[in-house]
Amino acid sequence: MKRKPRSETKRTVERKQARAAQRLTADRERLFELEAGGAPRVALQVPTPSVIDAHVARVRCPRCDGKLELQEQAAVPIDGARLREARLKCRACGAPRSLWFRILSDASN
Ligand SMILES: [Zn+2]
Repeated sequence: MKRKPRSETKRTVERKQARAAQRLTADRERLFELEAGGAPRVALQVPTPSVIDAHVARVRCPRCDGKLELQEQAAVPIDGARLREARLKCRACGAPRSLWFRILSDASN
C-alpha cells in the first residue's frame, strides 16, 4: 500500500477536492452551452414562442440538476437574426442561466 506523502495534509486534500468540484461544474456549464439552446450560436429552432415554456420545463440546472424557473423572455438581435432569450434561474442553487431560441415564424415575414 502506498502511503500518502507527508505534505498532503487534510486541508490540502480538501482544497484539491474543492478545485476538482469547481472544474467539474465548469465542465458541466461548458457542456450545457454546447447543447442545443445553450448559447446563441446553437439556438433551438422552434415554430412559435409558445413551446419555450415546455422546453424550459425539461431542462435541468447543469450545476445541481435542479429545476429551472423562467424569469423573462427577451428578443435579442444577434448577427441580423432575432433570437429569443429565455432568462432562467435555478430553483435549487439560484444560478442564472439562459436558453436561446430562434422562432421560425419571426423569420418568415
Ligand atoms: Zn442549480
